[in-house]
Amino acid sequence: MKILVAEDDPTTRRMILKTLSTLDQQVLETDNGACAWEIYQRERPEIVITDWLMPGMDGLELVRRICESNEGCTLKPYILMLTAKNEAADLKIGFDQGASEFISKPFRPIELIARLKVGISNQKLARELERARRLSEQQALTDSLTGLNNRRALLKLLRVDEDRTLRGRQPLSVILTDVDHFKSVNDDFGHNTGDCVLQVVSDALRAGVRSGDHLGRWGGEEFLILLPNTDLIQAAEVAERCRTLLARQQIQTEDSRTMRISASFGVASANGVNRPDVMELVSQADRALYWAKEAGRNRVKIYVANADSKRRRA
Ligand SMILES: [Mg+2]
Repeated sequence: MKILVAEDDPTTRRMILKTLSTLDQQVLETDNGACAWEIYQRERPEIVITDWLMPGMDGLELVRRICESNEGCTLKPYILMLTAKNEAADLKIGFDQGASEFISKPFRPIELIARLKVGISNQKLARELERARRLSEQQALTDSLTGLNNRRALLKLLRVDEDRTLRGRQPLSVILTDVDHFKSVNDDFGHNTGDCVLQVVSDALRAGVRSGDHLGRWGGEEFLILLPNTDLIQAAEVAERCRTLLARQQIQTEDSRTMRISASFGVASANGVNRPDVMELVSQADRALYWAKEAGRNRVKIYVANADSKRRRA
């Protein structure tokens, strides 16, 4: 853990550093408030010990800036003000600006150590909580079987890209894919083989998409690929590459038979002319996927507006 010490009096600073040396933490020091602010921004120490009256910038302003720069963050630094100012009114001002703790000068090393130990363990706990929060957030957005984005994550991504597409007038494409005859895989070979198929499909799709594309499991045996800044033709190429990669896969069943699988793909795109909201875009891709199934599966179909009515007329 990094500790920043800002104190202009050399004797006091030396005493602080000597006291800190028992804690086995990385210590940064300065005798100037403005330098302390620079060091803070560069190093982001978890603990700050600051004097009040210093050249460059006073401790109160330093505390104010540090707290302002951490607004909205879950991990905030522990700030200890070490100062000769110890009137109740001073303490109130300091706490109001965001100081976590006060020690008055001249300080007793044992008191500084005790307060810092509390600060360090608070910071460690906060760090662990943050890590756990991120992990659970990650898990809430990940499909446990395939490790891909789950439907919730995809919906989030769709909204982000919808905003970006509308603002930047860039094309946005969606590919929806469904494993052919998946129900019979489960029925004939069991659910373990079914799960294995879904993993093989997700690996093939991972290999087929480009680095900026978002791939996820939409539900059951359906997968969705979101392709930002990609037109219909480019998206159809990605879909075709995924289809080919998947059709090459061989899967060993539990009773040692070899099975081949395929998937059908529907592609839809939003651009200057066709600008539906993202859920409508997904419906269009789903429509094209239905056409791919209808035409015999293991193929890519693109969504063409009015195709349904043309078919009805034909
Ligand atoms: Mg001073």
